[in-house]
Amino acid sequence: MKAKSKNATPFQLGISKERLIEDLRKIGMKEGDTIAVSLSFKSIGYVRGGPNAFIDALLEAIGPDGTIMMNTYTRTFHPSKIATRKIDYIFDYKKTPAVTGIIPETLRNRKDSIRSRHPTCSVVAIGKLAKYLTKDHEENSSPYMPYSKLAKVNGKVLCIGIDDNAVAIRHEAQYLAGLFNIVPFKEAVKFMDRNGIVRIFTWNTRQCVDRLPEFLPILRTMGFVKDARIGMANSILFPAKEFLEIISKMLKKDPTLNLCNSFFCVWCRELERKLNLYTKVEKKKIFQKNSFVINLITLVNWFRLRNYVVDDMLLGTSGTILKAYEIIPEPLRLKVKNLIQKIAL
Ligand SMILES: [Zn+2]
Repeated sequence: MKAKSKNATPFQLGISKERLIEDLRKIGMKEGDTIAVSLSFKSIGYVRGGPNAFIDALLEAIGPDGTIMMNTYTRTFHPSKIATRKIDYIFDYKKTPAVTGIIPETLRNRKDSIRSRHPTCSVVAIGKLAKYLTKDHEENSSPYMPYSKLAKVNGKVLCIGIDDNAVAIRHEAQYLAGLFNIVPFKEAVKFMDRNGIVRIFTWNTRQCVDRLPEFLPILRTMGFVKDARIGMANSILFPAKEFLEIISKMLKKDPTLNLCNSFFCVWCRELERKLNLYTKVEKKKIFQKNSFVINLITLVNWFRLRNYVVDDMLLGTSGTILKAYEIIPEPLRLKVKNLIQKIAL
């Protein structure tokens, strides 16, 4: 929301910083806490003083020994768009704006905040443990690694106005359950590395999370979720450690808990095929019990994913090289890929 300071708001209603601090304390934020915050800012209602007042409220609620972390992320693209150079976007952790909304972007612009370097899943943090949370979160680390660090320091997650969607940390639970790199559904982005060189980063894009809100009621019955309102927004607060431990353990034991019911979901349908989950699914849908339909989906998804995988191997190249590349023996492909990338950039 843009500040319309002088005469656009004829009445001085709205939610004050003091009221926000009170609400944050009520939900369980304490002095010295380390907290990851995800939110829909507009769900809070009109906040007097705008995004900066909201961030001030968070910082005052945790005091000088506390830390706040938020996702800033990056735009990502189909690998072929990067390959054909249709995209100029280069992620530079120092300059590229957050894609996760006005609040993370405002926090990123605070003088004392630190942003991590991960090319797709960067976070920004401010406070005592900001350096610890963001350190080593870069192209070689796991995408949601700051959330495991948050768990290690007994940090909490606050979700404001996004129901039971525990964004970001739920992907770390999938990662810890070993579900992250099974389906090669790639996206890519160019980024500025530590040495100021532009490189291409590819990753297995965010996994399907349609069913993950179903875990929150389980945590709630175990007494780990605190529900309250921040302003007008229904909000939840829960400990990162228990969330990751309980959900990753459940997903690992039974990956069918992650499977959505969409016929068209490449990720879930490929996950069940690769892990051979068909016999384990409790209430089978047609695409899980009919072998003709299973084969049809497998074929369609093979075509869809092949497009991504081949593009990934050939980033920065033209279609002609693509054909030639396919006949290169597997052990040499990585070397050729690196060479092609260098030339293409
Ligand atoms: Zn799905």
